[in-house]
Amino acid sequence: SGRLDGRVALISGGASGMGASHARAFVAEGASVLIGDISDEAGAKLAAELGDAAAFIHLDVTRAEDWRAAVDTAVERFGKLDVLVNNAGILDGGPLGTYTEEQWQRTLSVNLTGPFLGLTAARDALVAARPAAVVNISSAAGIQGVAGAHAYTASKFGLRGLTKSAALELAPHGVRVNSVHPGGILTPMLGAPAGITLDRGENTLTRLGLPEEVTPLVVFLASHESSYCNGGEYVVDGGMTA
Ligand code: NAD
Repeated sequence: SGRLDGRVALISGGASGMGASHARAFVAEGASVLIGDISDEAGAKLAAELGDAAAFIHLDVTRAEDWRAAVDTAVERFGKLDVLVNNAGILDGGPLGTYTEEQWQRTLSVNLTGPFLGLTAARDALVAARPAAVVNISSAAGIQGVAGAHAYTASKFGLRGLTKSAALELAPHGVRVNSVHPGGILTPMLGAPAGITLDRGENTLTRLGLPEEVTPLVVFLASHESSYCNGGEYVVDGGMTA
């Protein structure tokens, strides 16, 4: 039997990188998974590959109506929603004076407002399905600063804070909320932008991590095994913040 038998999860940004790794593991552990992403082709392909226990929905995490449709779809298709993984995120950066207000707003909108809208839309469904769990994917950049990544760092510190206030509010309603803080993980995200000092090998293990090295922690926090974990920050960064 699986560690997530009978659970129903909505994973934002589940079409790629770590989110896709989490989706695969969740299904393997017995969960049903609704993958929500703006990347329609990759999301639909992954859902098809995972079979009847998975489905895809177009979800732009910055849009409240997309979140409402995603929650409704999870409940209609799989009967309830008891796990929310706020995983979608974007990374960019640049020095002060060059990094624009539009870039700042976009990063905050996806990385911080997105999880807020997700919590808002899913709250009643999660409470109805209690015991439920929310896993917010922050970053090592939610523990310590990253040169040149002002908005990203602010968004990930913010998500860590949102996690704690939601954990306090929702605990009496049977919903646990925790944050996960990966270090440098080899995903499509790290291939992208210039101007960011991520100090990639600068951790005790002197290498980047793999999505599959983060997923077990997310499975744990989504499962009943973590029944005494609430409002915590879970670092999986090769010692980057040690
Ligand atoms: P990724 O780019 O491989 O995957 C991110 C996914 O989010 C993509 O499928 C993308 O289409 C989706 N997405 C982007 N904007 C969206 C939006 N508005 N609505 C819905 N989906 C959207 O990146 P990843 O490395 O797997 O990152 C997953 C999470 O982990 C992110 O929150 C990221 O900030 C965080 N993280 C990544 C690293 C790393 O080193 N890769 C480290 C720490 C934290």
